[in-house]
Amino acid sequence: MPHVIIIGGGFGGLAAARTLASADVQVTLLDRSNHHLFQPLLYQVATAGLSAPAISAPIRSILADQRNLTSLMAAVSAIDVTRKVVVLEDATEISYDYLIVAAGSTHSYFGRDDWAALAPGLKTLEDAFNIRRRILMAFEYAERETDKAKRLEWLTFTVIGAGATGVEMAGTLIEIARHTLKGEFRRIDPHEARVVLLEGSERVLGAYPPDLSAKAQIQLSKLGVDVRTGCRVTDIAVDAVRYVNRDGEQRLASRTVIWSAGVAASPLGRALQVPLDRAGRVIVQGDLSIPDHPEVFVIGDLAAAVSEGKPVPGVSPAAKQMGRLAALNILSRIAGKATDSFVYRDYGSLATIGRKAAVAQVGKFKFSGYPAWLFWLFVHVYFLIGFRNRLLVMSDWAWAYLTFKRSARVISGSVDGKLAKPDEGAP
Ligand SMILES: Cc1cc2nc3c(=O)[nH]c(=O)nc-3n(C[C@H](O)[C@H](O)[C@H](O)COP(=O)(O)OP(=O)(O)OC[C@H]3O[C@@H](n4cnc5c(N)ncnc54)[C@H](O)[C@@H]3O)c2cc1C
Repeated sequence: MPHVIIIGGGFGGLAAARTLASADVQVTLLDRSNHHLFQPLLYQVATAGLSAPAISAPIRSILADQRNLTSLMAAVSAIDVTRKVVVLEDATEISYDYLIVAAGSTHSYFGRDDWAALAPGLKTLEDAFNIRRRILMAFEYAERETDKAKRLEWLTFTVIGAGATGVEMAGTLIEIARHTLKGEFRRIDPHEARVVLLEGSERVLGAYPPDLSAKAQIQLSKLGVDVRTGCRVTDIAVDAVRYVNRDGEQRLASRTVIWSAGVAASPLGRALQVPLDRAGRVIVQGDLSIPDHPEVFVIGDLAAAVSEGKPVPGVSPAAKQMGRLAALNILSRIAGKATDSFVYRDYGSLATIGRKAAVAQVGKFKFSGYPAWLFWLFVHVYFLIGFRNRLLVMSDWAWAYLTFKRSARVISGSVDGKLAKPDEGAP
């Protein structure tokens, strides 16, 4: 039987694997982590609203019933398309007849990788734990601080980048400060906490229509977020962010900085030795295969795909749709049939801002506020993998809605142990 290797058990890889479930192929799915992660709710783990198992599930258990599939926890370090082998982190080689590369994306600091330790981005569960620890510890250090100016530095949270993740983070952070921690501290007033959202362009949620961006900005401001657009970050230090806006160079004293400004494709794309776009994504052909290698397909965030003349966005529905098509195209190749071109079906965009605040575009319909927020809740629960995960998320959300409390506020480690101060930049 032909051997299909799928690299990545994210949205794209999982959809490809499932499409091949009853096909006469042998499938090996390789992922460097043991779990599939529902990234759209990752910010909830980073802000202590949900625990990790609520939004992740072992890949092995998700695909346990698929008899033609072997799942290996392994990191792919190289791909040799000439010899048709993938090379793992321990130099083991596995050969394939067909390959689907679905390794996703990572953060981009636009050449300032030294900022990564000071302003973590959100992509993996480890990132979420790191951010959660920094947020919770900032309040703890503020409570211990006697100097007013320094206390304010601890209580100023900066989110860089007002895309969907930045907006979600900022909206939730202000809710934690204003509501969740209310009454728990004696020396600080969590109301003193500031959440500053810095955006380089002139509007938040730049991928959305301008009227929805404007509504999102109003909702953020109502919640208490200090939205500053037209601000280009020039430096990040342990205690401050510097940026330039129309009034010149500015300094914002802040000890907790979260990066949500840039995305770069997985470095694995380079291993294929085919043309990449500026973000490092592999420029794929219409049927998602790469030039000169009809047996290699690239999908999801790693693919620079075009559908009906428009670039396909880096979102989970696109990754799933590409995963399905790549798998079907492999079966077509095996059967000696022509492959199909990728056509992206856009079901709309949704971004939450905070409690009862969201914006949505579904087809021609645009709406915001409470109805959009309810719709967002429904969609996210619906698309979560596994009945248990849905139950966990719904019960945690119901609890949080009624009490304003967040269920996952544990900081692992102790200050006299290995736990570094958030401003020391340790992971
Ligand atoms: C914080 C955040 C919020 C988001 N919110 C939304 C949202 O609300 N709606 C939406 O539609 N989209 C959202 N997205 C985008 C969406 O998650 C991505 O578009 C989608 O995950 C892409 O799927 P993928 O399969 O290409 O990659 P991923 O889902 O990222 O999966 C990639 C997999 O490859 C594995 N991998 C990577 N490198 C290797 C390697 N070398 N060897 C082995 N395995 C490897 C990884 O462990 C991972 O499991 C969000 C993304 C983030 C980060």
